[in-house]
Amino acid sequence: MGTPDGNKADYNTIIIGASISGSLAASLLGRAGKDVLLVDPQSFPRRKACGEGLSIVGQRYLEEFGFWTEEVAAHAKPFYGYTIHHEDGAVSNLGNNDSVSTPQGYGISRVLLDSRVYKAALDCPSVELSTGLVRAVEKFSSGWVVTLSNGDEVRSRNLVVACGGGASALFPELEVESASEERYGLALWLRGRWFQENSSLGESHRKVKLSTIHIHHQPEGQYIITPLSKTRINVSILLSKGSSSKLSKQDILQQAFRLVKKSGFEISTLIQTRGAAAIHSSRLALDNHPAYIVGDAVERFDPIGGMGMTHGILSASLAVRHILLADDSPERGLARYYRERGRVARLLRVLTNMSYGLNVSKVSLVRQLVTWSPSLALVVMAALKSQFPRSQQFAEVFEWTSGQAVPSNQFVDPSSADFPYREMPL
Ligand SMILES: Cc1cc2nc3c(=O)[nH]c(=O)nc-3n(C[C@H](O)[C@H](O)[C@H](O)COP(=O)(O)OP(=O)(O)OC[C@H]3O[C@@H](n4cnc5c(N)ncnc54)[C@H](O)[C@@H]3O)c2cc1C
Repeated sequence: MGTPDGNKADYNTIIIGASISGSLAASLLGRAGKDVLLVDPQSFPRRKACGEGLSIVGQRYLEEFGFWTEEVAAHAKPFYGYTIHHEDGAVSNLGNNDSVSTPQGYGISRVLLDSRVYKAALDCPSVELSTGLVRAVEKFSSGWVVTLSNGDEVRSRNLVVACGGGASALFPELEVESASEERYGLALWLRGRWFQENSSLGESHRKVKLSTIHIHHQPEGQYIITPLSKTRINVSILLSKGSSSKLSKQDILQQAFRLVKKSGFEISTLIQTRGAAAIHSSRLALDNHPAYIVGDAVERFDPIGGMGMTHGILSASLAVRHILLADDSPERGLARYYRERGRVARLLRVLTNMSYGLNVSKVSLVRQLVTWSPSLALVVMAALKSQFPRSQQFAEVFEWTSGQAVPSNQFVDPSSADFPYREMPL
């Protein structure tokens, strides 16, 4: 194996961060038999501030990689469009008609999804876990030395940086390119039920299929309601910087409850809330780097587009491809990774900007298109999504990593007594 600093590397790859991007990379490398150290201070499952809307593109790749198990699918709720509640009270239904047969994506609990991908990684005999922070990283001619929070130094040939916002502390020299305005986020999970025919809401509301993402525009920001099941929803709230300092958490929750009811959901229980620090879309100014920086660590997408997880899945699998391909020439592998990730991200950016434009920007061309013809807007988005073919790059990763797919009988039914995470409701 490689010899950073002239010594033997302990691992083929060290992965910093075990959320969706890091665990996915660890699982795929583990299935291909590579020695991996996965490092994260968090214990999984954990609740993450997230809207939990996974695009159909992300879902398809999870399916291909074997992570969309029967268990995960049974707990996912397809959504077929968006119901946009404008500030002036008008409602636009985008895709809430029966002509759309393929879902736009799925509402999926990250308590379940992330812990399943994490568990699949740890089930691979060649994957080790270190529960702590990575304190520092240093590059040597043929590899990396990583300092863990307990002071241990470990060495690897490759480094995958999947630690989201934590990347800037490890690489302070990396500049951020094109960051959008900062907002503040809050996510909450509610139990209850959707109003059906006896709803006190108007006829137009009743016609709206329940399987849509509801987006409410308010002066203080957006409230995004993702159905997770017949009885659970996720509300993610994106507040502008100004309003987050003026409103108390109680005010925001009250507003959320009011809008949830307006969307047709009757609340019985507040399951949990999670705050998110500053949120903005941003990407690092790099065409190349000696580490494989993936997921939110390299580029964050606006949460309204729901492309964050999708980008994590795609960029992590591309990094794995080049780690597996470029054992003898890491530089070439890295250059190719950054080129391919850039291409994928450009397409995701267009999709995100479309969603963002239609949901947020009042004057955008996209918004006009949606107002004029919601079905045409959906067709355009579907056409863009179809630009993610089963390309050669991904086909190779499927092939190399499918040999040791984790058998589905290793997954435990969350409703069974053996489910280890019963204290955390999905
Ligand atoms: C309010 C909100 C709503 C969102 N809604 C959606 C949505 O609906 N759909 C969607 O697709 N995306 C959404 N996103 C984005 C999505 O959550 C992220 O894109 C996704 O979680 C990125 O995954 P990741 O694995 O790259 O990073 P993260 O999920 O950020 O994980 C980073 C991991 O690295 C670990 N870490 C950090 N520093 C270190 C260190 N020094 N050493 C070791 N480990 C470290 C952390 O503990 C963490 O587990 C939303 C985000 C927010 C904030």
